[in-house]
Amino acid sequence: MPKIRLPQRVVEGKFFASLKARVIDSGICSHCGACSAICPAYGIVVDPSRPIDFPNWEEDCLDCGVCIKVCPRWGFKPKSGLGNFLEIFAAKSERFKGQDGGIATEILAIALEERIIDRAVVVKRDENWYPKAATITKPEQLEKCAGTKYSFAPSMPELRKAVFRSKNGVGFVGTPCMISGLRSLQKIKSFRKVKLALGLFCMENFYYDSLVGFLADRGIDLRDAVWIGISKGKFIVKLEDGERSFPVKELNPIVPSGCKVCEDFTAVESDISVGSVGSPEGFSTVIVRTEIGKEIAEKLKERCEIGEVNLKIVEKLCELKKKH
Ligand SMILES: Cc1cc2nc3c(=O)[nH]c(=O)nc-3n(C[C@H](O)[C@H](O)[C@H](O)COP(=O)(O)OP(=O)(O)OC[C@H]3O[C@@H](n4cnc5c(N)ncnc54)[C@H](O)[C@@H]3O)c2cc1C
Repeated sequence: MPKIRLPQRVVEGKFFASLKARVIDSGICSHCGACSAICPAYGIVVDPSRPIDFPNWEEDCLDCGVCIKVCPRWGFKPKSGLGNFLEIFAAKSERFKGQDGGIATEILAIALEERIIDRAVVVKRDENWYPKAATITKPEQLEKCAGTKYSFAPSMPELRKAVFRSKNGVGFVGTPCMISGLRSLQKIKSFRKVKLALGLFCMENFYYDSLVGFLADRGIDLRDAVWIGISKGKFIVKLEDGERSFPVKELNPIVPSGCKVCEDFTAVESDISVGSVGSPEGFSTVIVRTEIGKEIAEKLKERCEIGEVNLKIVEKLCELKKKH
């Protein structure tokens, strides 16, 4: 039998106590939720409004230490910059409307159509903009999941179910910290069923309740928003009867502490990254990093409108995130 090395405890008690002390309570948890996807007691909860928690852990934690083993913020070494890449271009989907060019949706559709994956874990929302994770098996189900939700998504518990059910591979979309969580989970065999890691550029994310409160303080009910986005340093909320915008800086007080230690703007560990910065309006910036990313990029080029990226702006944002 190979010897399994248990993680080190930093406080007395069960392993979750150490994760809680060193990562969650110390404020460096990214809220990626990787721990929730692996906990054999199914006890770790990913709530879009609250820090990661394991209610009743004193009794229910099985003390296996696996939550620590997959936590990308345990012994955290921040990654930054553009990362390794094969090519970068701008693209706009001809069939999907998305946050920018609809390219995240297009990539997942291509991966399903080409049978690279048989399901994709995505993030939908309800009428309150509350983020919900979902597993999609047909390209035509993807459109309603397009668009950015500016709150932590409970994707990892959904991923756990998806890898269990998948025969041919899973696609996963997430912010840079979620992609790091996924890569960490892939130390475990069942998560190697994820064949496509689609990363989104990200400067910061928010707790759902904090975002609701921020907007309520400015007289906006989040439920009335028809579109939310960040562009040129402005947080923009489109309503039925007009538009309100605020300097992104005004959101600083509600940026979670775990985002403040993150330096990864472009999701350097993904197969293919997609963002808004660097591309003309209505296009998405695409960074192709791996062979599987390249296979999909070739199809993208056949099916989408292609443009050029202003790489200087992307690099500037990478630097800005590091500085923050
Ligand atoms: C919290 C957050 C912050 C971002 N910040 C920036 C930024 O500062 N600069 C920048 O250039 N781009 C940023 N992006 C990326 C940008 O908003 C678009 O998602 C990206 O450009 C892709 O657009 P699209 O039209 O190609 O995607 P679409 O086709 O609209 O697809 C979007 C995909 O994102 C997934 N998704 C939506 N919300 C979430 C979420 N909360 N967590 C995980 N997955 C989600 C959906 O499942 C969908 O598959 C951010 C994204 C998020 C989620």
